[in-house]
Amino acid sequence: AIDFKWIRDNKAAIAANIKNRNSNADLEMVLELYERVLNLQKEVERLRGERNVVANKMKGKLEPSERQKLIEEGKKLKEGLMTLEEDLLKLTEELQQEAQCIPNMTHPDVPIGGEDCSTLRKMVGSPREFSFPVKDHLQLGKELDLFDFDAAAEVSGSKFYYLKNEAVMLEMGLINWTLSEVMKRGFTPLTAPEIVRSSVVEKCGFQPRGENTQVYSIEGSDQCLIGTAEIPVGGIHMDSILAESLLPLKYVAYSHCFRTEAGAAGTATRGLYRVHQFSKVEMFILCRPEESVSYHDELIKIEEDLFSLLGFHFKTLDMASEDLGAPAYRKFDVEAWMPGLGRYGEISSASNCTDYQSRRLGIRYRPSEFSSANPKKGKSNLAAPQFVHTLNATACAVPRMIVCLLENYQQEDGSVIVPEPLRPFMGGLELITPK
Ligand code: AMP
Repeated sequence: AIDFKWIRDNKAAIAANIKNRNSNADLEMVLELYERVLNLQKEVERLRGERNVVANKMKGKLEPSERQKLIEEGKKLKEGLMTLEEDLLKLTEELQQEAQCIPNMTHPDVPIGGEDCSTLRKMVGSPREFSFPVKDHLQLGKELDLFDFDAAAEVSGSKFYYLKNEAVMLEMGLINWTLSEVMKRGFTPLTAPEIVRSSVVEKCGFQPRGENTQVYSIEGSDQCLIGTAEIPVGGIHMDSILAESLLPLKYVAYSHCFRTEAGAAGTATRGLYRVHQFSKVEMFILCRPEESVSYHDELIKIEEDLFSLLGFHFKTLDMASEDLGAPAYRKFDVEAWMPGLGRYGEISSASNCTDYQSRRLGIRYRPSEFSSANPKKGKSNLAAPQFVHTLNATACAVPRMIVCLLENYQQEDGSVIVPEPLRPFMGGLELITPK
């Protein structure tokens, strides 16, 4: 439930936030619609009251003519009420639709501005120095027979691919190694439905429709393909009240992801870097509000540990306000050095969405008798339910990890070294060599 009263009472702060995030949300329209909904609700209540008065009068003894008059009055009221109730439903939907666009509030430390304003949080390692000409992942893949983009273009379209030979083992190895590392840190593994209702996509803060949507909709249904496991995992506790003792809930989900990549032309789109379908291991936490800032730190630390174990050189960025997307309150991205591309490329993203998704998805918890969040402590353990906070973070987005691995671990003879942690998950394979 979006808190419209709160939005009305904090108009100036929200307007400033919309501006800082370069969002096209229309706050004036939302407030106008809200006012109209409130007025219509009052009118509906008034008519319901009048109808009840008539219904009560009918219970008494009446002259036939009086009864007839009341029947007609009741009929008129009922018809009027039905029209108003329909209008109210439509207007409420319009309000919800318009309000979906309002972004989350922003953490006070987030740098304000476009992508270039993002600030450096951490830098690990330095770019590897090569004593031979560096190849990019496309060339390496060709020489090592790891991909087939041409056949995929015929079968599916551009930005699809077949993985072949060791690349398949790399994908499986990366997924299994990542799952085992994250599970060691107390996360529950999940696989999830990859087709979900559009309404759930919307409640997670993504736009399932419209010109610039990144979401593939399934024709003739109200369902979509997921762009990230964040959506089905976010939905797993939809419309429920959790016991406080269950929190935090920490999930690590493996799924395929599907993205239209509308508007992505012109950016780095070669090879595996930006594709329509890829595998990803995603972490997701539901926690008490006061803990989300520290779990955000924990998530970025896990990402940094994983990328360090793989020996990548990378930097962690505190993303600027215009680059947060609607649901995030704060977002940390990791960009790794990709020698073939000759630049840093984003490999992961960790977001604290506070109560943005939980309000829409209806995920609450009930503070226990012993909780600091329970004002009724000692008297009764039935404190009012509160919205949880949700966080999501990429543990392993496979294609960009493959780009990073191939380009960083290439050798002069054209072979590629498999990083040590992955070897037990790839049948002991140490080296990818030309066939
Ligand atoms: P996001 O859910 O948009 O934060 O993306 C999470 C991670 O998935 C990014 O950091 C990338 O590593 C990866 N990723 C996103 N979009 C694509 C794509 N179209 N192709 C390949 N990898 C992607």
